[in-house]
Amino acid sequence: MDLKDSKQIEKVIILGTGPAGLSASLYAARADLNPLVLTGTQIGGQAALTDRIENYPGFPEGVGGAELADLFQKNAERFGTRIEYDTATEVDLSSSPFVVKTYSNSFQTQTLIIATGATPNKLHIPGEDEFLGKGVSYCATCDGWFFKDKAVVVVGGGDSALEEGILLTRYASSVKIIHRRDELRAGAILQKRALSNPKIEVVWDSVVKEVKGSDGVEKVELENVKTGKRSELLTDGFFVFIGHKPTTELFKSQLELDEKGYIIVDKRMRTNIPGVFVAGEACDPLYRQVITSAGMGAAAAIEATRLLEN
Ligand code: NAP
Repeated sequence: MDLKDSKQIEKVIILGTGPAGLSASLYAARADLNPLVLTGTQIGGQAALTDRIENYPGFPEGVGGAELADLFQKNAERFGTRIEYDTATEVDLSSSPFVVKTYSNSFQTQTLIIATGATPNKLHIPGEDEFLGKGVSYCATCDGWFFKDKAVVVVGGGDSALEEGILLTRYASSVKIIHRRDELRAGAILQKRALSNPKIEVVWDSVVKEVKGSDGVEKVELENVKTGKRSELLTDGFFVFIGHKPTTELFKSQLELDEKGYIIVDKRMRTNIPGVFVAGEACDPLYRQVITSAGMGAAAAIEATRLLEN
């Protein structure tokens, strides 16, 4: 593929279109920075894959994740954000202007806002990769429909596992949540909803050792962590929700990251390189909410604007 070198030096390039990236682009567009947003592979970020968001203010009845992402995008584009359906493959932050390469382009920019988000953690057990797309999934909103009247297993005990498990009850005949402890990590409201759902059963103190099947998932092998006893559980689907890791591989030799790969950021969304800002889950292991990511995106754009004005 021919690489097109853009001679134009952008004022700001934003990487990512989750709540952080699209909020940053809204603020940058309104500050007349004519922002260029590179979408990455997942447009709308993880929020767009969420069935229903009930804790983003302004939507008392809740709002679909994809619908909210679409509203964010329309809002940003209304003020002149340019959205390029491409993925950054390489960045050079060693001198200004910074260089961002994609599969087909090379851009230069005075400031960069990284809002690349996070990707789901894997269990790294036998069968998990083999049956990906054949029963193994990390997204109930995307794949739940395939499990109509079928039995599914969900791994995890946090908000994601319960929220996605509840969503899966719309389709599946039964949802067994496998949790490695005897207490859930999820918040009280979700716990109450999940535990009172007749289709949901929690298998406590247990881990999945292997996913088994032939053409698709047929069963999982469990181990009780207290007794060491092994057992098999028949299932058609295997959903994993055990947290996320930040999508920051691209920056690791140039920006300071913590031991888990989150970009180290100060209170003003600045990284260790002046002109490079970060927002959302690429730097946030703590809150991981649509509203906090959106807030960070806005703050990063305000800081980029201030830097350019000075
Ligand atoms: P999380 O809170 O980190 O929970 C991960 C769960 O997976 C934990 O229960 C953990 O067990 C389990 N786990 C981790 N590694 C495992 C492994 N190797 N094998 C088996 N189990 C494993 O992640 P999350 O549920 O994705 O939530 C992340 C953040 O997003 C949280 O701050 C959450 O509040 C937020 N969130 C909020 C909402 C909402 O407000 N509606 C929805 C989704 C997510 P332990 O409990 O034993 O550690």
